[in-house]
Amino acid sequence: MKILVINAGSSSLKYQLIETDTNEVLAKGLCERIGIDGKLNHKTAKGELKGADVPMKNHADAIKAVIESITSPEYGCISSLSEIDAVGHRVVHGSETFSGSVRITDAVMKSLDECSELAPLHNPPNIVGINACKEVMGESIPQVGVFDTAFHQTMPKKAYLYGLPYEYYEKYKVRKFGFHGTSHRYVSARAAAMLGKDPSELKIITCHLGNGSSIAAVDGGVSVDTTMGFTPLEGLVMGTRSGSMDPAIVTFLMEKEGLDTAGVNNVLNKKSGVLGVSGVSSDFRDLEAAFAEGNERAGLAIEMFAYQVKKYIGSFAAAMGGVDAVVFTAGVGENSASMRAKCVEGLEFMGIKIDPEKNNTRGKEADISTDDARVRTLVIPTNEELMIALDTKEIIGK
Ligand code: AMP
Repeated sequence: MKILVINAGSSSLKYQLIETDTNEVLAKGLCERIGIDGKLNHKTAKGELKGADVPMKNHADAIKAVIESITSPEYGCISSLSEIDAVGHRVVHGSETFSGSVRITDAVMKSLDECSELAPLHNPPNIVGINACKEVMGESIPQVGVFDTAFHQTMPKKAYLYGLPYEYYEKYKVRKFGFHGTSHRYVSARAAAMLGKDPSELKIITCHLGNGSSIAAVDGGVSVDTTMGFTPLEGLVMGTRSGSMDPAIVTFLMEKEGLDTAGVNNVLNKKSGVLGVSGVSSDFRDLEAAFAEGNERAGLAIEMFAYQVKKYIGSFAAAMGGVDAVVFTAGVGENSASMRAKCVEGLEFMGIKIDPEKNNTRGKEADISTDDARVRTLVIPTNEELMIALDTKEIIGK
């Protein structure tokens, strides 16, 4: 089955065409500067890059450009639109309405609109992407929504409620939702497969460490806790996001710095995190390079990040009453051996012990634990697009 996976942002749109019989990526690419001028970077299965300036006044134009690329007689991979069996869309927020992936209908579109209030920056472009596909591809090709929040809908109430007046949960759904769910679901399932066990037998801590980072506690195949919260701002210190802190700092800074709500949101989301602490960069490669050249604050940012990851690993092991495997994924988790080593340094008491030689790996699945470690530490490249394609296949097969 050929599934087109779409991840639509406000001015960009990422896509992959996946053959789900073989899990092969037939083509992938990125449309950028939608609504400004338009740029398409299309990569064939062989890795050839076909970049072009294509006018894109809206997302429908971007979808048209994607279809032209994948059906191009010169470098495309299918001969016509009719070869696409379905489209799977990444949708950021599914609120409490969606605890799994869903075929998109008019009623679902209405619910997605209602979820937008909780993710005003992310859900509206996702919806625009779905409408653009409908407009360009017609109603005959089924569309499926796969939500970042859905995997965490299994969290118990004691984990997802905040210590606020209960009425705010009832009136506004102020609660922990968690994000990166598609990634946590994919890598926890892969971890079980790598260990040759059924997910129901395992307690796994999945560390998605990238520009945005979150950790999840996956007990028996379901998420029981995670670090991100009502929004993706909670939890670990991130590239530019503060992560968790004393909430009183918000009003303190508003008063001291004369910031309004937009101003303080900007500080917490765009100017904080390892960028804010280091004053160097939000990119962990830049931080490692700056630290190697003696920049102390770059080193401090790296230490803070690793320390927080370690604390969450400990607390999630406590929450689950044990841990069988720790998984590292996403840009930092898949690629940085030094960061992985720092994150688990001192956790030998819990049975977590990594082998420096095995840890010297990047971008591929590996068990990096020592032979005698009680807990397996795994590196697993995430693949949210494949997960979306497989969900889409399953849903339309029903
Ligand atoms: P992501 O958001 O998953 O794309 O991850 C992006 C982050 O991964 C950036 O901060 C990159 O600096 C980081 N990253 C990618 N490769 C490496 C590497 N080899 N070493 C350290 N960090 C890396």
